[in-house]
Amino acid sequence: VLRLIREDGVATRTELARLTGLSRPAVAVRVSELITQGLVTERAHGPSTGGRPPVRLAFNGSGGAVLVASLGYSHGHLAVCDLAGEIVVMDETRLAAERGPEMVLPALLDRWAGLLTEAGLSAADVRGVAIGLPGTVEEASSFLEPPGLPRWEGAAIGPVVAQRFPVPVFLDNDVNVMAIGEHHAHRADGVDDLLFVKLSTGIGAGLILGGAIRRGSLGAAGELGHTPVPDGRGVPCRCGNDGCIEAIAGGAALLERARLKRPELADLTELTALARAGDPAVVALVREAGRRIGEVLAIAVNLLNPSIVVLGGDLAGAYDPLVAGVRESVYQRATARATRRLRIEPSRLGDNAGLIGCATLALDQVLAPESIDALIP
Ligand SMILES: [Zn+2]
Repeated sequence: VLRLIREDGVATRTELARLTGLSRPAVAVRVSELITQGLVTERAHGPSTGGRPPVRLAFNGSGGAVLVASLGYSHGHLAVCDLAGEIVVMDETRLAAERGPEMVLPALLDRWAGLLTEAGLSAADVRGVAIGLPGTVEEASSFLEPPGLPRWEGAAIGPVVAQRFPVPVFLDNDVNVMAIGEHHAHRADGVDDLLFVKLSTGIGAGLILGGAIRRGSLGAAGELGHTPVPDGRGVPCRCGNDGCIEAIAGGAALLERARLKRPELADLTELTALARAGDPAVVALVREAGRRIGEVLAIAVNLLNPSIVVLGGDLAGAYDPLVAGVRESVYQRATARATRRLRIEPSRLGDNAGLIGCATLALDQVLAPESIDALIP
């Protein structure tokens, strides 16, 4: 019943009875429980023509909150989102995942509590928590082998969060939550097959296939950046192999190359700003990186046949030369059928993709029928 109201906008008890095949009294009991739980509102609609006024039901997006955080190695974002998945308040933070969970988690809980107060909400409004981190996730309970983040491996995140906010806690890889966020932003278009590519210091991908995120058998799907390229021999990659596309065309590699001519370049943000300003050397560098990334993406497009490839991450700040290079290789190398309707687009959510993705991840589970059934005595 909640799903019909929330996702399909079904607004009357009569329509709910017709669609579910439940009796009118059974629908009435369920709707009244949902109203008691703060998940559904009803209001009189239009003028009464005698008798009872017509009443319309709606999902109550402000009937609770989820706490979300998207953490990177050196900085992150956190927010309070409502039940519609919209950001209510957010904060950028220097909480760096590299400082380890024993430092980061307590600080994160304090910041969330502060944001809740700012939003005029309390801990009792919180229905779920979701965190994205650069690591793979084992059975949604703990992070497994986060590269460069050894202290997060197996850390008991759920129990620590639950001491403060006793609600379900969901964890996922940072690129996966961005892919989930971008998919959410494309839901109105009916996109079911989406390949999200994060191009920042490193390169990673998130796969939405058949409308769901695909993590693979060990949560390691999407490691596009560690695909070796033919002429990459001898170029070392942080994964321990050599010749990976990330080592050739990732943000760190580009920055290093750009610094040969412009040693003053501080980071990727400055590099992409130069590309947008039309600096010929930087534009050429980014375009060539796009071409190289496109060569690997063409394989993914042939294999998965997505309807859309979304390019995000810091390097997408130099979108025009980047996508020009990507398109050149993908349309040249992927099959005509796989590219016939393929769209290649920039991220719609930018820096907020991870937060919106975390909110979607948590809400899809805390508002699932079995979770709602468990709420109702
Ligand atoms: Zn590698």
